[in-house]
Amino acid sequence: MDSLIYFDNNATTKIDEEVFKAMLPYLKEEYGNPSSIYSIGRKTKEEIAKARENIAKLLNSKPENIIFTSCGSESNITAINSSIKLNPNKKHIITTKVEHASIMEMMNQLEKDGYIISYLNVDNRGRLDLDELKKSIRPDTCLISIMMANNEIGNIYPIKEIAKIAHDNDIIIHCDAVQALGKIKIDVEDLDVDYLSVSGHKINAPKGIGALYIKNSDSFTPLIFGHQEKNRRGGTENVPYIIGLGKAAEIILKDNYQKEKEIESLRDYLEEEVEKNIEDIHIYGDKQNRTPNTSSIAFKGVKADELMLVLESFNIYVSTGSACNSEIALPSHVLTACKANLEDYSPIRISLGRYNTKEEIDIFIKRLINVVTMLRRKKWSI
Ligand code: PLP
Repeated sequence: MDSLIYFDNNATTKIDEEVFKAMLPYLKEEYGNPSSIYSIGRKTKEEIAKARENIAKLLNSKPENIIFTSCGSESNITAINSSIKLNPNKKHIITTKVEHASIMEMMNQLEKDGYIISYLNVDNRGRLDLDELKKSIRPDTCLISIMMANNEIGNIYPIKEIAKIAHDNDIIIHCDAVQALGKIKIDVEDLDVDYLSVSGHKINAPKGIGALYIKNSDSFTPLIFGHQEKNRRGGTENVPYIIGLGKAAEIILKDNYQKEKEIESLRDYLEEEVEKNIEDIHIYGDKQNRTPNTSSIAFKGVKADELMLVLESFNIYVSTGSACNSEIALPSHVLTACKANLEDYSPIRISLGRYNTKEEIDIFIKRLINVVTMLRRKKWSI
């Protein structure tokens, strides 16, 4: 069996060894409830405070502006829910056609509740047009929710400019930064967003932990009521996972995005090799403005699903869409919004992570050249 090559880090990442070690005592010996005032409770409370400081530092926020949630999806829903509660008479929301499923599904629900949603278009490179955003604003717009980085094509969106447009028009701005965290610098002060969502499992912390930056807690309405997180998110804290997220943030802070530079050169090397060795390919997304780890590549005439399955037989893991959607056999809404010609050019998504090596890229390229050639000659049937 070939050794495993994992190129699907936008779907999820492997838990870092240091993160795992930091979490372990809190799964077993250190089980005190952080709300208890005796010493074993105080200890876990202190560790949660340290984790909060780390994630705050990573976002250039004050620790008191961060709450922990169960995942990025919950952070997104919490932000949207709180925003609409603040202006109950305003029933218009602006988002984009390329948001994550957690946002899209929430918008579907809100439409059923009588909200009007404007979904901004993207061009064939997945870029937004800020004039369209400005034109979409109405007197009853209560919220603009736009992601910082796209999970499928990696595009980075101009959140600072978008936040300015929102605030100039007295509109709340939420940013889903789940795919940006750890890959590009995030500075909530500079961006001037009202809410920003992040998730642990995209940065080598476990699945099932997220955080939300809240600029103004006075105007915040919780999704889950309870006294924890200063009354902003009820439920006994998931101490080991919070500590894991804090440790993962600390690793990124220490490394100061050096690892991302290495990942970017691996990604660029991979694309160069593909371009050099395989004809008729297409790379989706905005090459000038993408997260450093993501590549969405199509090979003319080769069905991405078939390619993915053949690669899997060599123990190489890539994806054909966002993980949350891959059980549903629908074309990706992101690529559809880019007006992609999916009949001829259906892409695989390669998303690198901190443990990938040049050797793995070389093995992958060799396999890919061979597999694409065979699939094009229809010599490989699935
Ligand atoms: N937002 C984006 C852009 C994502 O890619 C994801 C996960 O894939 C999420 C939100 C949801 O995060 P979680 O899986 O922690 O709920």
